[in-house]
Amino acid sequence: MISVATALSIISDVFYSRKTRIVLLKNANGLVLAEELISIINMPPFRQSAMDGYALLLHEKNSYQIIGEVKAGDSKNYALKPGQGVRIFTGARVPDLANTVVIQEKVCRTENTIIVEDEIQENQNIRAVGEQIKKGATALAVGTKLTPAGIGFLAGLGIKEVKVYTPPEVAIITTGNELIPPGETLKEGKIYESNSLQLCAVLQQLKIRNINKYIVNDEYESTKVTIKQAIENHDLVLISGGISVGDYDFVKEALAELNTEELFYKIRQKPGKPLFFGANNDTLIFALPGNPASSLTCFYIYVLPIIQKMMGMYPIGLSRILKAVTTDFIKKGDRAQFLKAIVSEETVEILDGQSSAMLYSYAVANALIYIPENIDRIQKGDLVETILLP
Ligand code: AMP
Ligand code: MG
Repeated sequence: MISVATALSIISDVFYSRKTRIVLLKNANGLVLAEELISIINMPPFRQSAMDGYALLLHEKNSYQIIGEVKAGDSKNYALKPGQGVRIFTGARVPDLANTVVIQEKVCRTENTIIVEDEIQENQNIRAVGEQIKKGATALAVGTKLTPAGIGFLAGLGIKEVKVYTPPEVAIITTGNELIPPGETLKEGKIYESNSLQLCAVLQQLKIRNINKYIVNDEYESTKVTIKQAIENHDLVLISGGISVGDYDFVKEALAELNTEELFYKIRQKPGKPLFFGANNDTLIFALPGNPASSLTCFYIYVLPIIQKMMGMYPIGLSRILKAVTTDFIKKGDRAQFLKAIVSEETVEILDGQSSAMLYSYAVANALIYIPENIDRIQKGDLVETILLP
């Protein structure tokens, strides 16, 4: 059995060769750039008026003759003489010879003459060519995670497609004779299968769309065949249940039989002690404990950083902050513990129902409190490590 810290360092050191693909910019939100993007235009591409007003070629006096109008989108260039100007609007092309834009609020107009009622400075209210980014300059670097603003920025440069790190293709294998799908009538001894749904939900939150689900009974041969097939066709395999020490837990044995390299098995933690992590060819495999809360906690702490690595993200893992806890807590045993909690602006509250089989508290939690293995009690007001759930 290893510590949480050792498990996390194995996760962070594991080698994984990333795949890339080209996607439409409109589908790239949340994905990470796998190429440096160079701007092929100046932005703005022409001298742009930043305001509604008048573009002028300055002279000594404060009166100007207005000889035309440029709207946003117009291409006409007026050959201005000193003392002349044009009516202009935000985003419109400033005539080449104009050397300032005066906002309309500072001007008094009668017919085709304006009097400027304010001091004028050269180049004011004009956005210079390439002011935001010059043609040939780096727009965004490799490793940038695309956000709505990033997508807007690249679209503004005329970019339609981008090369990104491909999210992994994931298999979810659920094991357990007792499981039936939600919607069917519950029979004696059976429970509804929930792990695959919560795993799918959290994977979808991470922008993973290629998910295949497999269901196996607690039977060695079919467990092995299904895991083999999943490994062959996916980058990441998540197995739910069957990894403990019961007589009908066949996952560990099947993985070994398939020559899976064990990277770790069993962590000194609660919940989620029997977590298995391994590699088989290019596929990474987690066997998650069947208890629903354990399964999800193991996902957040260990699987999520691996997925982030596969997708080229940095830093990996969930954000951790220190918060004052609202009650005392005594930790039994020498394992580290992850507690379901609700974090508010000032404090963090430990929820009732910490059992690894219980989801009712998890369903309203927005954080996990991490209690290291060497700490056995915390007191109200202590600052505790609080992991923010996505
Ligand atoms: P296991 O790890 O297979 O020994 O399962 C531990 C506990 O989790 C048992 O009470 C199982 O019934 C329950 N369990 C296992 N898989 C699931 C699942 N997919 N959905 C809901 N509960 C599960
Ligand atoms: Mg089981």
